[in-house]
Parts: sequence; C-alpha cells; structure tokens
Amino acid sequence: MDSLQFTAAELGRRIARRELSAVEATKAVLDRIEAVEGTFHCYVTVDAEGALKSAEQVQQQIDSGELRGPLAGVPVAVKDNISTKGMRTTCASHILDNYIPTFSAEAVNRLQRAGAVILGKTNMDEFAMGSTTETSYFGETKNPWNPEHVPGGSSGGSAAAVAAKECFCALGSDTGGSIRQPASFCGVVGMKPTYGTVSRYGLIAYGSSLDQIGPLTKDVTDCATLLDVIAGHDAKDSTSTARDDGPFAEALVDDVQGMRIGIPRDYFGEGLDAEVREAVLGAVKTLQERGAIVEEFDLSLVDYAIPAYYVIACAEASSNLARFEGVKYGYRAPEYDGLHSMFKRTRSEGFGAEVKRRIMLGSFVLSSGYYDAYYLKALRTKALIKSAFDKAFERFDVIVSPAAPTTAPKLGASLSDPIKMYLGDIYTISANLAGLPGITVPCGMDSKGLPVGIQMLGDCFQEKKLIRMAYTYEQSQNRRVQDEQTV
Ligand code: GLN
Repeated sequence: MDSLQFTAAELGRRIARRELSAVEATKAVLDRIEAVEGTFHCYVTVDAEGALKSAEQVQQQIDSGELRGPLAGVPVAVKDNISTKGMRTTCASHILDNYIPTFSAEAVNRLQRAGAVILGKTNMDEFAMGSTTETSYFGETKNPWNPEHVPGGSSGGSAAAVAAKECFCALGSDTGGSIRQPASFCGVVGMKPTYGTVSRYGLIAYGSSLDQIGPLTKDVTDCATLLDVIAGHDAKDSTSTARDDGPFAEALVDDVQGMRIGIPRDYFGEGLDAEVREAVLGAVKTLQERGAIVEEFDLSLVDYAIPAYYVIACAEASSNLARFEGVKYGYRAPEYDGLHSMFKRTRSEGFGAEVKRRIMLGSFVLSSGYYDAYYLKALRTKALIKSAFDKAFERFDVIVSPAAPTTAPKLGASLSDPIKMYLGDIYTISANLAGLPGITVPCGMDSKGLPVGIQMLGDCFQEKKLIRMAYTYEQSQNRRVQDEQTV
C-alpha cells in the first residue's frame, strides 16, 4: 500500500508495529517532493540528507525501545518562520535568506523529542504578512487542487504540502488566520490554539500578542495528536501557559449531543460567496442532525475587527522587525556610506513591498500624536471584541462560520488591492484579537473543484470542544463517503 496515503497517526502506528520503517516513509515522501515540488513549490528548503539521517537515528531508537509515541518516525514540515537549529530559516524574505539559526524553536524541539523527522521549511508570505503565499521572496506556492489558484496564506506552503502529500503533517503560524485560511483553501485541517498553549520561543515574531504556532494536518485525529506533541508550558516564553486539561486526543469523541452552536448572523451576510455559505450551512445541518443545538446571534462588533487587527499587527510588526538592519544576522546591502546608509539600504533592499507597507503603517500609528487616535483606540476595540466573545460563550460551546468569504482566488488576483485582501481575513482575525482557539475542517467543494472549510471557534482553553465537534463532523463525512461507495 502507498504509505503516502496514511495520515500521520496511521503512519506512526505502522512504524511502531514495524510494518514499515521511518527511513522508508521518509524516502517515500522525499520521492514525492522530488516529483511534484516543481509544480506546487511548497518548500523554501528541503533537507533530504538531514531528514534521512534523522530517520535512521529515530528508527534505531524505536528499535531499541527508547522511543515510542504517535509521531515517532513521521516526516513533518515546518513553516519557515519557525527556527530550526542548523537549518536555514528565511521567513521567505531576502533579508533573512542566508540566516541559519543557532537554536530551534521549542515546538521544533518537542517534535524532535517525539521522534518526528523534519523534512524542511515551507514557503509562506514574507514574515507571515499576507493571505496568499504570493509575497514570498522565493516565489509563490500553488494550490494542489488547482495550480492556477493560491494556497492561501500565510502558511500556504505548509497547507499545500499536507494537501499534496509532500509531508504527513506540518507546523504553521497564525497571527490573523494564517493556519485556518490556507487549511480551508487546501482542503486540510488547521488549528490555531489558545494564545499561550504552544511556546512562541523561536517563532520569528510578526505580531507577538497575536502569533500562535499550530498544526496543519490531513484529519482531526492528526491535529489533536500533533497538538499534544507541541503544546506545553515553556519557561522561555513568558506568555506560555501551563495547562492541565489532559491530552487533546481524549476529545476525539464522535458525539455532539447537546452541544450548543452559535451562528453569528453578521458572518453570513453580504460579501460571502453563495457556494461557501451553502457548504458551511450544510455542515451545520449535519451537526444539528447529530444532536447539536443551533442558534443565531448578533456579533456585529466584528465589523471593527479588521481595522483593529491591522493597526495592532502592524504596530507590533514595526517594532519586531526593527532588529533586521544588517548588523547581527541576515542580508547586508553590499554598498553603503556609513551606518545609517547601511541600515537604510539593507532594509530597502531586504524587505518586500508588503512588509514595508506594514512597517510604515505600524510606525505611523505608534508615532506621537497618532498613538492615542489609532493604537490605543485599536487596543480598546480589541478589549470590546474580547468581551463580546465572552458574552457569546456564556450561551454557546462553539461558534461556527466560514473560514474565508471565498474559495482560493486565482494567482495574481489579490495583491493589486491590499485592502481587499485584508477584508478577506474577516472571519479569522477576531480569534487572534481575543486569544481564542479555532479549527478549520474541510466541508465540501465549490463548482470549480476547490475546497471549502468550516471554522469552529471556542472559548479560551476549550480546544477539546473544537476537536470533539470537528471530529464528529469528519466522522459523519467519512460515513457518507462509505455509504456512497457501497451503494
Ligand atoms: N492575512 C493576515 C495578515 O496578513 C494574517 C496573517 C497571519 O496570520 N500571519 O496579517
């Protein structure tokens, strides 16, 4: 049987049962990368040699009984803004195109301790700023369902790599939807955990108060499995939380009887593609048939989420990206005249247009005279959005919506109008402003043959409710497919 068909958890089980080795699985996926990477371009860096070496080591540890666990021997991909010791980490930017970190992110350390084999680093929007993976210095990634379309972003390389079977699962990062939206466009599962659940140590910061690392996987079981590996308190990240709610995989339960679903009326109005609406509401109906209680409610405050998000994210980005000036690491302009000219030329040549736009916007909203009018106002809006969600979660277990207003747009259709692209983040960004967990699960296809995703949001630290609901929905789809096949 073709091992590429396996989910990460299934592959892990088979490796544990010695049905195939970590090396065989790694070779199979490297062959696949070799065959299709020219078409999809999911990776910035593929470390074939390193992956095979680590697969051999892992296999030895499995054989000696030292290493056990669901991801032991499973080849994974890591977004290129997550530091990997000794492996180039570029943020898909010219300014970091020669940067080799001297340490790994905590999430990567945890993956490696669990025996996962790191295949390489996936493509992304430059510094995670974007929704299409077209702002990468290394060129765009293509959607495996139709290479004329974008994979979404900014974790488009990770989502596409999972969809194209160029890895078994992947890590992404989500500042305003960058895991959930590309998962939706590529027909895979993606989760942004509650802020603080996964350590941000070694994640190259975009908007520090919003960034979270999370899984992109073939199914909900893999999502819970990967989250169990990467989550956990880390003293190296002061915003990391110690959670004691037990393994996420415990929530893989096929039952939503009595769970309360809130449908924000405002999310299903103008601007939402009719086919996306139909697919998402169809999924809601399935959950209702399984015993969930569905009710509409008003969440109109989210109209302010996009402006608040772009003010806060850009403000934080302008500060976080100040460190890239050609002195300590990364690119340095070859010609300059004194220190200031070196900074200026390095940054002018090193950053792409979207990153520059955001640094300028961020510096503006933080400058004296505008700070109160824009930045503070955005922070107040963020607090109001959080309290609107707090109120909603008194009534509901899960809030359901689309992950994006449309399916994947065509390559080249989004970048000319940045404001329009920002508006596409409407369903995902409020979760980051409020620190909430969110999961996207595939829920159908549009008439162009592109995947649609349903998003489920939960209250802080309620990932288990999301996993349970997402799993139940997925099981109902699997049963439907089986029924159709037997007919
Ligand atoms: N599209 C959003 C932005 O450009 C979200 C990006 C992200 O989550 N990293 O900021």
